[in-house]
Amino acid sequence: MGSSVWALTGKADAAVLCGMANVISDTDHLLEYAAYCVKYRTKPELREFMSGEYFARKGTLGVVFHAHEYVAALVIASAMLWKKNQRLAQNLTAFTAGYGMHMLLDLIGNDCTWRGYSILYRIRVRFDEVTICSKKRIKRGNGNESQKCVDSNAYI
Ligand SMILES: [Zn+2]
Repeated sequence: MGSSVWALTGKADAAVLCGMANVISDTDHLLEYAAYCVKYRTKPELREFMSGEYFARKGTLGVVFHAHEYVAALVIASAMLWKKNQRLAQNLTAFTAGYGMHMLLDLIGNDCTWRGYSILYRIRVRFDEVTICSKKRIKRGNGNESQKCVDSNAYI
């Protein structure tokens, strides 16, 4: 994505910001896993982290850097900047494109509902992992509220 921005704009800083947006947005996984390890006094394990199984174990799904609301705010901020500071607007737009693409690919590639990517929705349901992963539950056709999403692809 960053290379596309570079090809389109010729701006290295915009390309880097676009690429960084993709990486930064997933740092919430590290923070959440670290908090899980501290809370449950468990030793960090790469396999456990990569599988996402710890979400089901703790019963919550925070991933606070993932949200439609942030995409909307970034789009609005970028649009407002174009008349005032084009260089800053270009960089923010590149960052927004990278972040937005990350959110889109997560939405397509993961088994989470559209509203599961809303931070306001996740707050409303108190980050309840089963409720947020209801698409998976519905697909399984069991509607059992105690059913946990244990598939590693079920997470944001
Ligand atoms: Zn992500």
